[in-house]
Amino acid sequence: NTFKDLGLNDDLLQAITDLGFTKPSEVQEKAIPILLNSETDLVALAQTGTGKTAAFGFPMLQKIDVDSRTTQGLILSPTRELCLQITNEMKLYGKYCKGLNVVAVYGGSSITDQAREIKRGAQIIVATPGRMKDMINRRLVDISKIQYSVLDEADEMLNMGFKEDITDILSHTPEDKNTWLFSATMPREVATIAKKFMYDPEEITV
Ligand code: AMP
Repeated sequence: NTFKDLGLNDDLLQAITDLGFTKPSEVQEKAIPILLNSETDLVALAQTGTGKTAAFGFPMLQKIDVDSRTTQGLILSPTRELCLQITNEMKLYGKYCKGLNVVAVYGGSSITDQAREIKRGAQIIVATPGRMKDMINRRLVDISKIQYSVLDEADEMLNMGFKEDITDILSHTPEDKNTWLFSATMPREVATIAKKFMYDPEEITV
């Protein structure tokens, strides 16, 4: 299988060529067709280093409307480092998606600067839960039009005590969005979150 076979568009294929990715990884091969071709929730059991960022990133980039400045995609991740890493990757993957704006939201850095960036129009926000909740409470961000939400490293986020923040954040997003959960392990707490926030999810394991 090639990335083209998976149904990715020319803007993404060009970026993939630039990055030197020759073929999809296993998680990409499994997740991308599901996410591109249906409006569904997804639970993916996948470790770091498997290419999972692109597995949710490519479909999100292809499905959002870059002509609109509305925030349509929200990616939650446990740490500032991961948040910055995902943001960086999304920018690389979306380098030919004209008008795309991906903004990182995380603690320990100016909330005013982050709010200003969002105000310019961010189709995708990559955030740590604590700062994201803070931004919502201060009405610095509007996530009422989110269509795709990703819970990345869900097990880590729950280990770090972000369950309430995640619940709170998701309560500000539309009921009919799709949620894509990625986790290296599936302890009961993750299964509970999946049950609570997802409807009949597709499931993949790598
Ligand atoms: P991740 O698991 O998302 O953290 O990805 C791990 C690393 O693999 C990142 O540096 C990606 O840029 C890279 N990567 C992702 N997909 C592919 C692929 N299909 N071929 C080669 N490298 C990839």
